[in-house]
Amino acid sequence: MRFYSTNNPSLRVSFQDAVFNSMPLDRGLYMPAHIKMLDPDFMANIDRFSFQEIAFRVADTLLGDAIPTQVLKDIINDAISFDAPLVALDGHTFVLELFHGPSLAFKDFGARFMSRIMAYFLQDNEKQLDVLVATSGDTGGAVSLGFLGVPNTRVTILFPEGKVSEIQRLQLTTNGKNIRAIAVDGTFDDCQALVKKAFADTELNEKLRLTSANSINIARLIPQTFYYFHAYAQLKRRGLKDIVFAVPSGNFGNLGAGLLAYRMGLPVKQFIAATNANDTVPRFLATGNYEEKPSIQTYANAMDVGAPSNWVRIMELFDRDQIAVQQLVKGYSFTDAETLAAINRIYNSYGYVACPHTAIAWLALEAYVKENPKLQSTNVFLSTAHPCKFPDIFPGNIKKEIKLPAQVDELYQHPEKYEQLGKDFEGFKLYLLSDL
Ligand SMILES: *Cc1c(COP(=O)(O)O)cnc(C)c1O
Repeated sequence: MRFYSTNNPSLRVSFQDAVFNSMPLDRGLYMPAHIKMLDPDFMANIDRFSFQEIAFRVADTLLGDAIPTQVLKDIINDAISFDAPLVALDGHTFVLELFHGPSLAFKDFGARFMSRIMAYFLQDNEKQLDVLVATSGDTGGAVSLGFLGVPNTRVTILFPEGKVSEIQRLQLTTNGKNIRAIAVDGTFDDCQALVKKAFADTELNEKLRLTSANSINIARLIPQTFYYFHAYAQLKRRGLKDIVFAVPSGNFGNLGAGLLAYRMGLPVKQFIAATNANDTVPRFLATGNYEEKPSIQTYANAMDVGAPSNWVRIMELFDRDQIAVQQLVKGYSFTDAETLAAINRIYNSYGYVACPHTAIAWLALEAYVKENPKLQSTNVFLSTAHPCKFPDIFPGNIKKEIKLPAQVDELYQHPEKYEQLGKDFEGFKLYLLSDL
């Protein structure tokens, strides 16, 4: 399987190059040159297969000979080592829980698969891979836990000191081994600026093999298709069809993966793009005008994106046919007040605690169903994070219902260790060069 750049369709690179470069030099995004349909026999019997078996078939169909069969099987069995269950709220409404991995957010799927793919490609190149990541919260946890103990890799995570939740901080600072955390005296933007400068620095690039674990990496997108197929298999077992998926969205990688699954033959009736006040995509879907805006801070902060980087991929999947995209994807956006009210309503109606991102997906589903009263469908909203990661959002009566998962107990068993740095680049550069 070869990959092209959305800015240059005639460019072709290997999977290995697409993974290590993250982004082509022309600043487009890598996309698979051919999207193969899944074998119809497999799709007809998908309900007989396990999550890992489904993941393997999907990855193998997409990647072809880019990774040897047994290696791909081993990578998937190791990376996709936790479930993505469908929880029924009523007879036709389900929540697809994607937060049962080590960092308690769906980003674990992408980060764990990508880290193992990188480790595999590194084998014939003995120079250690240095992964640099800036995080505002969820990405850092998924990437550090995804790379933890992966041979021949070292991860340096920069986070804004005092601006991530306690659980998020512990996920960055208690790992040890090949993971190093740096608390930067500044904002997330300062962290990101330091990482960008490092990638542009000649001396650092000569001495270190730097790579980013950026969310636009194609190896993070591919494994997110797995749980859409697995959800379909779980519903097929219950005799349910005509699926509507509502996806809480920020950079639109998650929705992009759902649409890639659709292009590979997954039967879906409707996709719903659910956003907070950062409504670039819902406005585009309603009006046809694509206009990016500076991001606005909200309760669902992992979705505070005004210029979603993966939207280009979604248009590309449908050959930039705007009408086709507008028909298959409906968009809705919600305020913080609506999000908070939804958290309360979901709890009061179903006894279910949803994180703010998840609550927005539920609101979008509700709005869509109201607009289509005659609809016969199976409605699924994706839950992207465990509510315990956002403790400050919930009213007291709901907060005390949040059960802390084992992953959190584990965090308190280990000492915290992190470096504190200012936002000047020279200090960061010295740190990176210090143990050479
Ligand atoms: C990253 C994230 C999102 C947004 O996902 P995209 O793929 O960027 O659209 C939603 N919810 C949570 C909890 C996240 O961490």
